[in-house]
Amino acid sequence: MAGNNDKTNSAEVREDRVVTNSVGNPINEPFATQRVGQHGPLLLQDYNLLDLLAHFNRERVPERNPHAHGSGAFGYFEVTDDITDVCGSAMFGEVGKRTRALVRFSTVGGEKGSADTVRDPRGFAVKFYTEEGNLDWVYNNTPVFFIRDPSKFPHFIHTQKRNPRTNLKDANMFWDFLTTPENQVAIHQVMILFSDRGIPASYRHMNGYSGHTYKWSNKQGDWRYVQVHIKTDQGIKNLTAEEGAKLAGEDPDFCQQDLVQALERGEYPSWTVYIQTMTEEQAQKLPFSVFDLTKVWPHKDFPLRRVGRLVLNEVPTNFFAQIEQAAFSPATTVPYQEPSADPVLQARLFSYADAHRYRIGPNYHQVPVNCPYASKFFNPAIRDGPMNVDGNLGSEPNYLATNNNYRFLGADRPIQQHQETWQGPAQPVHWATTGDIDFAQATALYHVLGRTPGQQRNLAHNVAIHVASADPPIQERVFQMFSRVDKGLGEAIRSEATALSQKKPKL
Ligand code: NDP
Repeated sequence: MAGNNDKTNSAEVREDRVVTNSVGNPINEPFATQRVGQHGPLLLQDYNLLDLLAHFNRERVPERNPHAHGSGAFGYFEVTDDITDVCGSAMFGEVGKRTRALVRFSTVGGEKGSADTVRDPRGFAVKFYTEEGNLDWVYNNTPVFFIRDPSKFPHFIHTQKRNPRTNLKDANMFWDFLTTPENQVAIHQVMILFSDRGIPASYRHMNGYSGHTYKWSNKQGDWRYVQVHIKTDQGIKNLTAEEGAKLAGEDPDFCQQDLVQALERGEYPSWTVYIQTMTEEQAQKLPFSVFDLTKVWPHKDFPLRRVGRLVLNEVPTNFFAQIEQAAFSPATTVPYQEPSADPVLQARLFSYADAHRYRIGPNYHQVPVNCPYASKFFNPAIRDGPMNVDGNLGSEPNYLATNNNYRFLGADRPIQQHQETWQGPAQPVHWATTGDIDFAQATALYHVLGRTPGQQRNLAHNVAIHVASADPPIQERVFQMFSRVDKGLGEAIRSEATALSQKKPKL
């Protein structure tokens, strides 16, 4: 994973830099193409040219569908507080212990080349290279999400992308989906998105949240539900809608630049990591499901407990190799940290690794940035496949059988069998209906915003300038949805959006 840190293109000729084609044959003269005569057509035998052009055509790997646009850096996680009573993972083994980490920040809806300063949730994905294998925390900068049923995910993401006819982002699609009665479970996340936090001023100035409920256990087998909070030590800083739009035009890579420049100045951003924990008995008494991704756990009932510090201190030496090819998945986990039954998390366990198999190939875990280099990969049955480049376990047998002398850790570490018990018929379950409970935390957030002058007004303004591009019947649904959070909020949005929409061109 190490690379050279030589940032210059020095004029000095280096003896160890003989230029070759892709199979190592020296190239005499890179810009002399083989032709018939001085001005005639090219020759097919000019392999160096073919090699160059053919590889150029294959430079891009498919961009991620959501989270295509991102930035990243390396650093470490350091344990500051003992939580071995909650989690037996080796990375938490002792106070002061450090684990190397990679973080990728991203926007969600835009393409790979889109602007940094858009109103969109931000991805906050961390890969820890632990001695028990890699661990990915694939989080966002918001503690909740728009949906709680994974069958809605592709539909929802499509509404954040481009209209198939106009190829434009489309306010009608955006709000039509979100205001459909059963999709209004999104209201809590929509409130956060259109609050001041909807456009972070930089990746250094935002938090990360697990959002999902996870299950962690200690070495004695006691387990708890857990949510993780990664809170910025730089303080929260945001951009207004107008600042974000201006920067998107003038300096679309603003956050990438901010991150690289801060690291190069030696200003290493850090975050304090906390957990909230909940027992199974406490979960049964909640007014909502512990597996509902649209809800937070109130701080007063489930206080934050400090765990450690995440520090970024290293700019990647090669963006494509180390960030574009970085493959995060919630299924990449270590002993004592397990997924809960949250259905969106369960679906993500499949779909993230599947996306990387498509984007990079089935051996994506052999790419150095994804290699579990701090532990050791060994599985005789995971063999072959395109781009197998790690020696393929040599002459090791390619199967496991009871008479083979392999070691398994199962006896040391029970997995889930001591945890919840599930029972019932296999059946389709529709978890979409929106009730008053789904608006309660949105209203609570509106009151939180009221603690800081201007924040409630900004929320109304940010919704109004967006919804002003939608058709009047859809606008009406938006006004009514926000009125259910707070009557005054709905009215404030109505009055500004109605005035603005009279000036907007319609497609
Ligand atoms: P608290 O009063 O204890 O917490 C309020 C929290 O709101 C703050 O700690 C801060 O989270 C967060 N916050 C402040 N401004 C914004 C904003 N513009 N957008 C999003 N979050 C903001 O109350 P509760 O725990 O009872 O939660 C009340 C509401 O606060 C929730 O309904 C939820 O919307 C929001 N919230 C709650 C979180 C939780 O885990 N309990 C986490 C984040 C938001 P932080 O300290 O993480 O910066």
